[in-house]
Amino acid sequence: MSNPYNNAVKQLRKVSEILKLDEKTVEKLTKPDKVIAKKLEIEMDPSPSSGQVETRTFKAFRSQHNDARGPYKGGIRYHPQVSEDEVKALSMWMTWKCAVVGIPYGGGKGGVIVDPKKMSERELEKLSRAYAREFADHFGPELDVPAPDVNTNSQVMSWMTDEYVKVASNKEQVTREEKEKLRATFTGKPVDEGGSEGRTEATGLGGFYVLEQLVNKLGLKKKKTTIAVQGFGNVGYWFSYFAEKEGYKVVAVSDSKGGIYVPEGLNAELTLKCKKEKGQVTGCYCVGGVCDLKKGKEISNEELLELDVDVLVPAALENVINKMNAEKIKAKAIIELANGPVTPEADEILKRRRIMSVPDVLANAGGVTTSYFEWKQNLAGERWEKEKVFNKLKQVMDKAFLKIWKKYKELDDETMRMAAYAVAVERVVGAIKS
Ligand code: NAD
Repeated sequence: MSNPYNNAVKQLRKVSEILKLDEKTVEKLTKPDKVIAKKLEIEMDPSPSSGQVETRTFKAFRSQHNDARGPYKGGIRYHPQVSEDEVKALSMWMTWKCAVVGIPYGGGKGGVIVDPKKMSERELEKLSRAYAREFADHFGPELDVPAPDVNTNSQVMSWMTDEYVKVASNKEQVTREEKEKLRATFTGKPVDEGGSEGRTEATGLGGFYVLEQLVNKLGLKKKKTTIAVQGFGNVGYWFSYFAEKEGYKVVAVSDSKGGIYVPEGLNAELTLKCKKEKGQVTGCYCVGGVCDLKKGKEISNEELLELDVDVLVPAALENVINKMNAEKIKAKAIIELANGPVTPEADEILKRRRIMSVPDVLANAGGVTTSYFEWKQNLAGERWEKEKVFNKLKQVMDKAFLKIWKKYKELDDETMRMAAYAVAVERVVGAIKS
């Protein structure tokens, strides 16, 4: 596996050449401002056989890449494969993602080397509280604003927020109002604890706004546009839901167990209901108001990626479009809702074959944008209705898409990914110099 940090630096160097940046600036951008590593000590649950209590230590990181445009922003992941280089790369990508959509944040990322599936809820709570305590000095609403990531969720954010506010308000006397503002330090909180309405739908919906813009630019007809979506989890489902409601034909979706092909276009809500009952999408051929085995067929995840559709939407894993299958992709365009679904080798092949890929830093930025809305609401003591969140999200996504599209046309022989990076790096460099 290639090192993600080396890849991130390579990408940055390529963009820097296009932008003709000086070496000192490039050098600064390749390195995070700060990488903090800590050891978290947790008392595990008593062993069921001996009753003995073991103390275990977990390695934890926070990488703060750049804050020229605003506080560091980015998730905290729990995974056995977390490494310092991974969080460094991810924090750099967050700097670009926030800059692409023009929200006033820099980039950060955190992680703990742990397999959360092997821990009890009590142990996870202890780990999350320990993380918030150990890194508390480096967090704050104007300093660094973490969020959920792989294997962390609103419950983890709730524990972390509670612990962080305790630590931060202990250090100095704070008023109730100031305490409320401290809660803005974490986003992705449960809605009744200061989380934003619309966060659940946000990434899929943001991807849908991108689809609308893209279809318009490519001159496709909405009702005739066919779409295949790999992954029917949070992001893939909401994307399919909004696309179908607007009249697009979502003809294929999949999950880890396999995919379905429904040529008439599927009903996303019914498909989800059926998936919940069966534990998989396979067999859920739901069109209009009914699910009928005659309406579709089973396909593999590989076949889904190679379907002859207008738009292909990877919304599950990284590296799924790679040098092995890039020559076989038949879609006119790709919308990258997963993080890193297209490898650099595949990027080159797709470019040669004139298949456009809307990069992840733009396509899936609806999530971080709505996190920004949560932070704004917390700081202003406001609660926005879902409709307001959706409208504001549309404004941000549309503006970002059109800006990147313009750059893409200006750069002529570059991919949309390079155009997005160019806009982002220009904005960050502008902020450093101002
Ligand atoms: P999720 O866990 O809700 O859903 C993931 C889906 O992918 C599930 O349907 C799962 O069955 C499917 N899947 C797993 N392995 C697969 C395989 N081998 N082949 C096909 N499908 C497979 O996760 P999510 O929140 O929907 O995130 C999906 C992607 O979007 C990830 O890459 C994530 O990093 C990215 N993303 C998510 C958000 C967000 O707000 N949730 C924001 C930005 C990026």
